[in-house]
Amino acid sequence: MSDFDDHGPTSLPEPPPPPPEPEPPKPVEVFADYVDGMTAGVERVSIWSKPDAILLRFASGDELTWALDDLRALPDQADARGIVVKPGHDSLERLIVRDPGIAIHIRENAKRLGQRPPVTNIPRIAGWASGAVASVALIIFVLVPIMANQLATYLPPEGERALGDATFGQIRTALSSDASPVSLCEKPEGMAAITAIEKRLNAEVDLPYPVEIAVLDHELVNAFALPGGRIIVFRGLIDDAQNAEEVTAVIAHEIGHVANRDPTRDALRSAGSIGVLGLLFGDFAGGTVMLFLANQLVNAKYSQAAETGADAYAHDLLQRADIDPKWIGTFFERMVEEYGDAEGVMAHLSSHPQSRARIEAAATASGGRTYRNEVLTDAQWAALREVCGPRPASDDGNDKSPDDDAEEEGWEEPDTRRQDAPTGLSGDN
Ligand SMILES: [Zn+2]
Repeated sequence: MSDFDDHGPTSLPEPPPPPPEPEPPKPVEVFADYVDGMTAGVERVSIWSKPDAILLRFASGDELTWALDDLRALPDQADARGIVVKPGHDSLERLIVRDPGIAIHIRENAKRLGQRPPVTNIPRIAGWASGAVASVALIIFVLVPIMANQLATYLPPEGERALGDATFGQIRTALSSDASPVSLCEKPEGMAAITAIEKRLNAEVDLPYPVEIAVLDHELVNAFALPGGRIIVFRGLIDDAQNAEEVTAVIAHEIGHVANRDPTRDALRSAGSIGVLGLLFGDFAGGTVMLFLANQLVNAKYSQAAETGADAYAHDLLQRADIDPKWIGTFFERMVEEYGDAEGVMAHLSSHPQSRARIEAAATASGGRTYRNEVLTDAQWAALREVCGPRPASDDGNDKSPDDDAEEEGWEEPDTRRQDAPTGLSGDN
């Protein structure tokens, strides 16, 4: 006999087992950009997804919890896979989420994402001014770059050409020390030499537009590419090159940037930023901003990957055109010896830390075969060196007369004045 029997039929029925607790989703840490809506800064935060909220954790250790039900998405402000949200209709705060996983989590679980504010809910003016500053920062530093990357992928070749043409004029103005744009060099004999280089390379280039080379009368040792296949070479670069093959090799590198659409992304980013600032300030800030951004394009600092990609493209293009890729290396090597890694000199051509690796890569690409080279005849090379007009004897110590052969070993040191003069756009004498 047991005590339990005493309860008899009056004992309560066994309580049913409690329903199993739903497994909480595993928290995953991802990062996003946070704008507080009051200051112009963009702050990197880690976000943790919870079943009914997202947790924002700041570098300072502070945390914010945004309930999923309060989240509203800002339309059309991120690329397709990301999302931009704010914690409620009236909030000036923004969170830019690029991680596809957490964007999906928000899209699937935040029920009022797409809800528009009621008509009576007139946005408060208080705080709007600082909110506008934050919005501009958000657009220029976060959204314009995202959109530029996207747009560069879809921009048709004609669009790239138009963008390049528009930028070219701005850049010529930005480079000049007075109001008039810096001169294009167009002496007919020199132009014929340019045409010969264009033909040699265009025969091997697979782009939706022909490569067009222009020379600007500027002493900076520089070259850069514009969207749509326009390559700009500065007179200073031709002055410092020891032969036409070196000039052609640098041009091939720039064509690599065009093929990879690096300048297109850059120009779209600048154009987007100018557009946004122009909308806000009208012409007031336009001139200064334009100069600043043109400067950015001329001294384009592409990513390491972009530079390596342009070099790889150039090696391949030069080989196909029967030109030794080593000329990229010889040119860079001399530039590094002459100028070191001085900021601003040579713009993106030599001033970055991987110069040594690039020189070696060019030598490797050269290996194992002989090349025809002979990009220009001696007479064409001499003409190219005077495409901006006769070189004044006092220009620099490196001046060569047309019949003065460029010797590979006995190459003369240039005027030392050059080593510290052209350090930027304002380096005109
Ligand atoms: Zn480059």
